Amino acid sequence: MLKTNDPILVNLIEKEAKRQETEIELIASENYVSREVLEANWSVLTNKYAEGYPKKRYYGWCEVIDEVESLAIERAKKLFKAEHVNVQPLSWSPANMAVYLGVLKPGDKVLGFSLDQGWHLSHGHPLNFSGILYEIVPYFVDKETWEIDMDEVEKIALKEKPQMILAWFSAYSRDFNWKRFREIADKVGAILMADIAHIAGLIAWGVLENPVLICDIVTTTTHKTLRWPRGWMIMCKEKFAKQIDRAVFPGVQWGPHENLIAAKAVAFGEALKPEFKEYVKQVVKNAKILARDLQENWFKIVSGWTDNHLMLVDVFSSFWVTWKEAERALELVGLSTNKNMIPYDPRKPLDPSWIRLWTPAATTRWMKETEMQKIAKIFTETIKVLKEFKWYDSKVEDKSNMEIFENKEFLGKLEDLKKEVLELCERFPVYK
Ligand SMILES: *Cc1c(COP(=O)(O)O)cnc(C)c1O
Repeated sequence: MLKTNDPILVNLIEKEAKRQETEIELIASENYVSREVLEANWSVLTNKYAEGYPKKRYYGWCEVIDEVESLAIERAKKLFKAEHVNVQPLSWSPANMAVYLGVLKPGDKVLGFSLDQGWHLSHGHPLNFSGILYEIVPYFVDKETWEIDMDEVEKIALKEKPQMILAWFSAYSRDFNWKRFREIADKVGAILMADIAHIAGLIAWGVLENPVLICDIVTTTTHKTLRWPRGWMIMCKEKFAKQIDRAVFPGVQWGPHENLIAAKAVAFGEALKPEFKEYVKQVVKNAKILARDLQENWFKIVSGWTDNHLMLVDVFSSFWVTWKEAERALELVGLSTNKNMIPYDPRKPLDPSWIRLWTPAATTRWMKETEMQKIAKIFTETIKVLKEFKWYDSKVEDKSNMEIFENKEFLGKLEDLKKEVLELCERFPVYK
């Protein structure tokens, strides 16, 4: 129908589909949902208003919608062993706003991971509600190891006496010591909250320890490692259930998007199957191979290693190329990556020295160890070619030199590497 009635839009969708098929997605936080999830997402459930919760709606004729939402909730509970789940939040802001609104008062103190260490700007940014309405005090990673120093976290907590402690990250590649966070929170009488937007998929099948059993409240995206439709959910202990539900609706959101909730239910069902366990295990295996090969090729990895599905790779101190140059060259080769500040980064936020990589999207295409080695090789060769041309061209190492992207010989070399990426993409299609 769309093809006949809105060819302009169909053309755009097809262009994007082609891009997704012909690039290897290494941007941390992007993944591919199944066809079934896509189908549920465009279903007629989008037509229905259903303010409220199952059996407590402000509109009539919600019996079917109630079953859809209850199904999503039951599956999510089973997957994470959660006492209570709210599947309505649309994205980070409403989900986390609901938690703050539900259990804190404006002006309360929250202890969270430092923003200037290059993690995610969501919690505590001065322009975000969290930074405007609450007092956010940071903890840091150790200057030597770049790992979170839990003794330091405890010291800050004892001094600051926060009402809530927040364990979260979106670029930290080591595992979290949830139990120690719990001890610290109990010592100062704080609520313990975790934002597991990135690692939820790995937690669902026990590849990483499950903080839902340890923390009071846990929020997560549904579209990152979980490979579900775009959205969020909140899991919490029963004693916070009322506060959280009331804060989501009517506190922050109104009409829930039931088509998305249906798509979440489909995806939760997929994640409960053993194939998903194979998938997340492979995600971590792939990340370790990629990290190992890059380290062997002289790239530095922040915090020394990866315990999960992502890593921050230094392109500057190892090869004297900047992120800006590296990202552009990698894009031309067909490897999608994104920049990230690192703790104590000497360079600026808009042109830092680090690239963040993750393996969940490539693993959804069932690329495995051999392909990761190939990707590491293509990545390294791209950066080496870049270094070579940059050096001959400018001899200026610390500034981005985008003029080399006019050089035909340089572009030719990238073209050769792109053929290798295309060959991989053809062998591992996203949607068959
Ligand atoms: C991805 C991410 C966000 C942003 O989520 P949206 O889905 O874009 O709203 C916020 N916080 C953390 C920790 C994240 O990883």
